[in-house]
Amino acid sequence: MRDATRKACLVAGGAGFLGSHLCERLLDRGHEVVCLDNFFTGSKRNIEHLLHHPRFELMRHDVTFPLYVEVDEIFNLACPASPVHYQHDPVQTTKTSVHGAINMLGLAKRLRAKILQASTSEVYGDPQVHPQREDYWGHVNPIGHRACYDEGKRCAETLFFDYHRQHKLRIKVMRIFNTYGPRMHPNDGRVVSNFIVQALTGKDITLYGDGSQTRSFCYVDDLVEGALKLMDTDDLIIGPVNVGNPVESTIRELAERIVELTNSRSVIVYRPLPSDDPMQRCPDIARARAWLDWEPQVQLEQGLRSTIEYFDRLLGRPAT
Ligand code: NAD
Ligand code: UDP
Ligand code: UDP
Repeated sequence: MRDATRKACLVAGGAGFLGSHLCERLLDRGHEVVCLDNFFTGSKRNIEHLLHHPRFELMRHDVTFPLYVEVDEIFNLACPASPVHYQHDPVQTTKTSVHGAINMLGLAKRLRAKILQASTSEVYGDPQVHPQREDYWGHVNPIGHRACYDEGKRCAETLFFDYHRQHKLRIKVMRIFNTYGPRMHPNDGRVVSNFIVQALTGKDITLYGDGSQTRSFCYVDDLVEGALKLMDTDDLIIGPVNVGNPVESTIRELAERIVELTNSRSVIVYRPLPSDDPMQRCPDIARARAWLDWEPQVQLEQGLRSTIEYFDRLLGRPAT
């Protein structure tokens, strides 16, 4: 017989960067994990070490198609997160966000299961309010190159709140700010993985624009802790909740930090800023502090060191 405290959790996008860490933590907590992925940006390698775990199950499936499984909790992370990948097939990105949300919400509705949406700071677009609080509605270009992702994620939030109001679904909406760490794909295209791989392989560090744009970087362990805490809150807490690190740095500072930490001889080169690239990003995490009793524990330098070690091993170089 199944232990009453043991839950069956579906992690859609479970073979991705964040999903694989989440699967691991859920197994550590004694739960059963169904990891679903279409392997668009995720990889079996990320969850290889879990494949033989008796409480772990892997399903190849695309969330844009209906899914019939039996679970207690659903974490919907299925969606490419890097601009390079989500802009590769923008129509598919919107379908994944919108049809994927509808299917996951339909599943949750049939099962009366709790469901968490991995939303994003991109719902704020290129923000005119700083730092971003959850009650800010954002400044998004609806027809630009980032819109497939930004508007897709905004529509998914709308669907979550409408299923909550209309069908009394138990929802949790988490707005994730830039998160980095081991298991980012080396060709993921996001800034932390790009700079580390470039620095470790002695290639030029590609700084887009003049590097004065800012981001705030959250280490993956902190992010996963935030997701678990949000899922565990009582049903009155539905979000949205910003989860991210409020320590802001310019992209140029990040590049210099990574060159220094890797003792690299790489030089920084300047490339054009992609269109609609937000100038400033920093979460106000007062809500996460108050509602989840959560705040990031890992400092940027510490997180960068572990990420550098990971890429060092992956690229087959001895750690520096
Ligand atoms: P990722 O690309 O590593 O993971 C996404 C996973 O979803 C991949 O394994 C991919 O194969 C899978 N996927 C994509 N489309 C799918 C589909 N149609 N059906 C099934 N699986 C599909 O990215 P990540 O950084 O782990 O992001 C996970 C989630 O968190 C995403 O929803 C992303 O939008 C959100 N998020 C991440 C960040 C971040 O900084 N990492 C920031 C904001 C939001
Ligand atoms: N759905 C699913 N699994 C389920 C139940 C529903 O994938 O267990 C999908 C199905 O494709 C459906 C969508 O979720 O179209 C939305 O479900 P809902 O019940 O809200 O709407 P309806 O079935 O009335 O379209
Ligand atoms: N960026 C950069 N060089 C790179 C990759 C990204 O300068 O090789 C910049 C990018 O233009 C943006 C910031 O770093 O201003 C963060 O980019 P990322 O793709 O990681 O995430 P997002 O723009 O979605 O926050």
